[in-house]
Amino acid sequence: MLLDSFHRPAKDLRISVTDRCNLRCTYCMPFDEYVWIDKKEILTFEEITRLARLFIGLGVDEIRLTGGEPLARTNLEILVGQLSALAGLKDLSLTTNGIFLAENAAALAAAGLKRINVSLDTLNAERFRQITKRGELSKVLEGLFAAKGAGLHPIKINAVIERGVNDVDILELVEFSREHSFALRFIEFMDVGNSNSWKSERMVSKTEILAAISARYPLREVGRDQGTAPSVDYEFAVGQGDIGVIASVTEPFCSSCTRVRLTADGKLVTCLFSETGHDLKSLLRSGATDEELVQFISGVWRKRRDRYSDERLEALHSIQGYQSKDHKKIEMISLGG
Ligand code: SAM
Ligand code: SF4
Ligand code: SF4
Repeated sequence: MLLDSFHRPAKDLRISVTDRCNLRCTYCMPFDEYVWIDKKEILTFEEITRLARLFIGLGVDEIRLTGGEPLARTNLEILVGQLSALAGLKDLSLTTNGIFLAENAAALAAAGLKRINVSLDTLNAERFRQITKRGELSKVLEGLFAAKGAGLHPIKINAVIERGVNDVDILELVEFSREHSFALRFIEFMDVGNSNSWKSERMVSKTEILAAISARYPLREVGRDQGTAPSVDYEFAVGQGDIGVIASVTEPFCSSCTRVRLTADGKLVTCLFSETGHDLKSLLRSGATDEELVQFISGVWRKRRDRYSDERLEALHSIQGYQSKDHKKIEMISLGG
C-alpha cells in the first residue's frame, strides 16, 4: 500500500473540476489579483478519468468532485458517468453550492451519483446574499429538494459558521435539516487561501456550536465514522436526525488525513494548506505512460509530511501565536474544499 512519511495511505481523492464559481463567498473567494486558470490548462474529462483510475490503483477508494463550483462545468454528468464506472471506487460524491442543482440533480443521479453535499450557511435570504455576494437562497433550497426528489442520499448540508456573521443561524439550520432529513455538518471557519481575513476570534469553535445546539436539543456523541472521519457526529437525545462538526481548527485530524487533491489544471496537492502543487498535467500531456504517472504520484505521496492544522493549533497555543498571513497557500477555489 502507498503510504506517506507518517504512514497515512491515500484514500480520498478530491478533484477540482474548475476554479470558476458563480458565488463570491467572503470566506473563500480570493481578491481580484487571483489569475483564473486558462481554459486550455483545465483537465478534460478523459484526463481526469485516466488519473482517477491510476489513483484507485494506488489505494484511493473515494472520490469527491469539487471546485470552484463543480456544476459550473458544462455536462458534469458525463464525468460522473465515467468515474462511477471505474472498478474499485466505493464512493463518488459532489460538493456544490446548490445554485445549479435543481436543473442537474436528475442527470447526476442517472449518471451514477449516489450522494451529495450542499453548502448552505444560513436560511436568511439577506444574510445569504451578504455571505455569497451574488446568490439567491431560493435556488439552493430548490436544489436541495430536487436532489431529494432525484433519490440522492444522504444529502449533507455543509455550514461554515463565522462569528458575527451567521452564528445566529445555527439552530434554524438544525431545525430545517431535521425537518427535511438532511444531514447537517458544521465546519469551523478556516484560514484557507490568502485573503479571507481569518482571525481565530472569528471562528466559532466546535465546543461553542455544540453548546448552542444542546441548550435546546440535547445531543449524544456518536463519534467519527470509521473512527477517522473529519466530522465528529452526534444524535439527538430525543427524536430523529443527527449533526456533525468538522473541527479542523480546534481538533485537527492531520494524523489520520488520507486526502489527496487534484487541481483543475492537474496539480497534485497533498494538503488543503499547501503552498504549491506538483505538476501532473505536464507529465500527462507529454505522453507519459500509466507507469510513469504512477511513479510520479507515488514519489510525491511517499514524501508527504503535511500536518498544517496540527501545526496551526500548536502555534495558536504558543507565545508567538499564529498569523495566517505569514503562510502563503493555494486558493481554495483552485484546489477544492
Ligand atoms: N463551490 C462548492 C461549494 O461551495 O460547496 C464547492 C467548493 S467549496 C471550496 C467546498 C467547501 O469548502 C464548501 O462547503 C465551503 O463552505 C467550504 N469552505 C470554503 N471556504 C471555507 C473556509 N474559509 N472555512 C471553512 N470551510 C470553507
Ligand atoms: Fe464558490 Fe464554494 Fe467558494 Fe462559495 S465556497 S465562493 S460557492 S467555491
Ligand atoms: Fe490533511 Fe492538511 Fe487538513 Fe491536516 S491540514 S487534515 S494534512 S489537509
